[in-house]
Amino acid sequence: MAIDSAPGLLIVFSGPSGCGKGTLVAKLLEQRTDTVLSVSVTTRAPRPGEIDGFHYFFKTREEVERMIKNDELLEYAQYSGNYYGTPRAAVEEHLKAGRNVILEIDVQGALQVMERCEDYVSIFLTVPSLDELERRLRGRGTEEETWIKARMAAAKSELKYIDRYQYTVLNDEVDAAFDRLNTIIETEKYKKISQ
Ligand code: ADP
Ligand code: 5GP
Repeated sequence: MAIDSAPGLLIVFSGPSGCGKGTLVAKLLEQRTDTVLSVSVTTRAPRPGEIDGFHYFFKTREEVERMIKNDELLEYAQYSGNYYGTPRAAVEEHLKAGRNVILEIDVQGALQVMERCEDYVSIFLTVPSLDELERRLRGRGTEEETWIKARMAAAKSELKYIDRYQYTVLNDEVDAAFDRLNTIIETEKYKKISQ
């Protein structure tokens, strides 16, 4: 298959909150013009600096529940008391146009995509230790204490699903983790082209 007619890769990208997913995705988008991030809907409040329609589509519970009912979400989950979901139409459009689409989603959502979609690349991002994860969460300075505790508890249960993913990438150092991720994308893209 010619490189310009190959559909994009659906990339399922998970890892505990605070492990560095956002940092690495930002770097990927900067360096790969063939790759986009799916913008999720969420009912959580925006963090300082987050832009509606760019980081998330910020919605009410009623709005998300309506989207679920109308089957507009490829997957959705409740995480720390809030809904998060992936709008289906945008993902399908990007893939058809040959763009790789990153779904930066939690384990519950990732398992749904693995069940529903035939073709995907799944990557779990890990940290050197739980202590380091907590340091990063605190260092980001966006969460209150109770949320940090909730996110650490969620992290421990998410780590149990690491074996369900095709790839594990360690984020010990940003540039090294970026190279690992980029190599996976390049390899999978070429696998698809040569099918
Ligand atoms: P996530 O999107 O997974 O919740 P972030 O990308 O927001 O995580 O990263 C959480 C915090 O950790 C941020 O302050 C970020 O700058 C920092 N961080 C990310 N990767 C690393 C790394 N390899 N070493 C040290 N700090 C990191
Ligand atoms: P945060 O509130 O830190 O932005 O995200 C919390 C968790 O929700 C992270 O693990 C993130 O990957 C996940 N998440 C973000 N968007 C979605 C989504 O659309 N679906 C699912 N299932 N999880 C999501």
